[in-house]
Amino acid sequence: MSLSVLSIGLLFLFGLALGSFGSVIVSRVPKSKSIGGRSQCPRCRLQIAKRDLIPVLSYLLLRGKCRHCKKKISIHYPLLELGSAILIILPALLEGYIDPFTVNLGIALWLFLLLAVMDAESQKIPDAVGLPLVAVAFLAAYLRGEISWLAPTIGGGFFFLQWAVSHGRMLGSGDIFIGIAMGFILGTWQTTVLSIGIAYVVGAIIACLFLASGKYSRGTRVAFVPYLFIGTMIALVFGDRILLSLY
Ligand SMILES: [Zn+2]
Repeated sequence: MSLSVLSIGLLFLFGLALGSFGSVIVSRVPKSKSIGGRSQCPRCRLQIAKRDLIPVLSYLLLRGKCRHCKKKISIHYPLLELGSAILIILPALLEGYIDPFTVNLGIALWLFLLLAVMDAESQKIPDAVGLPLVAVAFLAAYLRGEISWLAPTIGGGFFFLQWAVSHGRMLGSGDIFIGIAMGFILGTWQTTVLSIGIAYVVGAIIACLFLASGKYSRGTRVAFVPYLFIGTMIALVFGDRILLSLY
């Protein structure tokens, strides 16, 4: 399907709905809670009414407060919904068309974002989301029409080596799944290596800023998935241009 305001708009709405489901995943999966059942307000425990579950819009209409107890609703919810919607339409905008490949790639990016949020919030990278990420990223690579097996091998292998050398202390199996998914998402070993490089550079800069501000001391466990996500996004959007300028 070619791009039109209508098709992108519909895809964006689909992304908002996924984002809303994403909030449920992010707040429940790391605590091993069921993702079924309606969400409750964390303070008054009242079920959130259907009319208050419209992504972004409900937050704005309620001015960011629970309808019953007026407790502030975290800005994270509408931001996650908006971010998800942007990720869902991004591949279509990059490619200039909507097809099963661009939609699958968008869903892979959305799952990746959820893992980044969960790692940042709870230092957990649940396989219940990591494995679907690998599956959807593989499907996207298959639908792209050319699967590079080298890219996921390098992505996954890089983290597998660290995992093996540190006997699972430096990172967990979740990072290996993410490395594999990055390879499928990016499609070439060059952009995969680039994305890991960017993740380390951005991570190092942020860590220095945090150290300088005294926010955390040496030895604090740093969530790394957010940086891998940032590295992957930069490599996906600008990777070819960056690599061309390096040659
Ligand atoms: Zn409430």
